[in-house]
Amino acid sequence: MAFEGLTERLQKAMRSLRGKGKVSESDLRETMREIRLALLEADVNFTVVRKFVKNIRERAKGADVLEGLNPAQQIVKIVNEELTKTMGETDVPLNKSDKIPTIIMMAGLQGAGKTTTAGKLALKLKKDDNARPLMIAADIYRPAAIDQLEQVGKQIDVPVFQMGTDVEPLEIVKAGLAQAKENHNDYVLIDTAGRLQIDEKLMNELKDIKAYAKPDEILLVVDAMTGQNAVETAEGFNDALDITGVVLTKLDGDTRGGAALSIRDVTNKPIKFVGQGEKMTALDVFHPDRMASRILG
Ligand code: GDP
Repeated sequence: MAFEGLTERLQKAMRSLRGKGKVSESDLRETMREIRLALLEADVNFTVVRKFVKNIRERAKGADVLEGLNPAQQIVKIVNEELTKTMGETDVPLNKSDKIPTIIMMAGLQGAGKTTTAGKLALKLKKDDNARPLMIAADIYRPAAIDQLEQVGKQIDVPVFQMGTDVEPLEIVKAGLAQAKENHNDYVLIDTAGRLQIDEKLMNELKDIKAYAKPDEILLVVDAMTGQNAVETAEGFNDALDITGVVLTKLDGDTRGGAALSIRDVTNKPIKFVGQGEKMTALDVFHPDRMASRILG
């Protein structure tokens, strides 16, 4: 991740306050204006920006920053706390079922990184939880998707359940879950179909899978590099599926940060993981506080 533009602009916005014993109303107004522009330029959702700036302004006034000993530092602290809050405040762990298997449904548009992320997550569960996951290949529309999941499975030594492309996804899921029960797998990851855009057929298929599998976790995988499109995608999937969490992929290539800063606030669903590379090990738990500190540099 390198939101250099945002980091630089936020630092610049607050630099003008440094060394001031007292901050005037107009100093504060100018700083807030620059923070607002920095966020908009980073492609942060407009409503999120407005709320963010309003909160900072109110706190900056309320906290007696204007009279404070070191106003610049106080404002940096407030901005850091508000950035953290905007991204969800605290880490939200993966939902886990009381009885095995914990069922995780992966959803997302084609190319977002769903299949790769299923593999990364399976590997993480294996390593951190000593888990024995099973992955189900339920994307029958793109023949290459099944091959890809199988390749990923081989690479991380996790079994993949598949029935080719001629069986309906729901039937594949049913058979896959039955196999997981038989084999006592403790996690099942269902790789669902992705499309180029959200359409009714895709959503109905996902709703049917959700109704049958009753997943403990519905993780929406979105590409951070697509900025506000990722946010809109998340809203669409959340409206239809009531997702339980978001995985933000390709953060390693995201130079702006708009999706990372908007998705939680817009959807009210937590970002649980971030993908930061193509390797199977490049999946990290999302920590809002650490991300805020990184953004402020
Ligand atoms: P799907 O269509 O949603 O299943 O997407 P894929 O899993 O096939 O991923 C699409 C492309 O994005 C592949 O080339 C992946 O290697 C790449 N990719 C996925 N996650 C990341 C990530 O976090 N960082 C980078 N740089 N590439 C990623």
